[in-house]
Amino acid sequence: MKHKVLQIEKLNKRFKNVHAVKGLSFSVEKGDIFAFLGPNGAGKTTTLRILLDIIRADSGSISWFLNGKQTTLPKPPDVGYLPEERGLYTDVPVIRSLVYLASIRGMQRSKAKSAAMNWLERMGLADRANEKLMALSKGNQQKIQFVSAILHQPAFAILDEPFSGFDPINQEKFIQYIKELNQQGMTILLSAHQMTLVEKIANKVCLINKGERLFY
Ligand code: ATP
Repeated sequence: MKHKVLQIEKLNKRFKNVHAVKGLSFSVEKGDIFAFLGPNGAGKTTTLRILLDIIRADSGSISWFLNGKQTTLPKPPDVGYLPEERGLYTDVPVIRSLVYLASIRGMQRSKAKSAAMNWLERMGLADRANEKLMALSKGNQQKIQFVSAILHQPAFAILDEPFSGFDPINQEKFIQYIKELNQQGMTILLSAHQMTLVEKIANKVCLINKGERLFY
């Protein structure tokens, strides 16, 4: 039987002029690819940030059930996060950044290095491993950001708009990468605004608009 890994109840968040998240409830089960689908400004990024305690909700509850324990915040080794505002060190060689970030999330450096090289190879970027991130094109930087979110093999990955900035061929590739990670046991919560992409990948879809759940 599947079990719940994340339960959100009646989440609310107001900014000065906007009620960004309105009484949002949903749950994610182990093995899901759960998609938040909604237009610009729907409240997707705000919700994902609340889950990671980057910003605080005004009310509501969040429960994580990872490694057999209930917590309000997951431990860094257990979660991967691709933020909407991509923010890796641009002035550091790609491979060094990737290994460093995986190591502070609990992965052995040698293991992180070989896994990172493996991903770079698959993405056709192995020969750029020692270049600074800022030397890469925007799409290629985005690929590195994705690798940094999942390299340490977290049980749960939160991917905020993982397809934005990619051409259609790369969008398809990333659908395959995410499905593959999911088949290896990673539970995925992602946000997107393209219905056609979400249909191809998600087993659960939560449609939100103006901070409210429309369909689930
Ligand atoms: P997009 O697809 O455009 O990224 P989104 O669904 O992720 O949109 P959010 O970024 O969560 O939407 O924004 C929801 C609402 O909250 C918007 O109206 C936005 O302007 C507002 N908002 C988000 N962050 C802040 C902030 N720090 N201060 C004030 N308002 C904010």
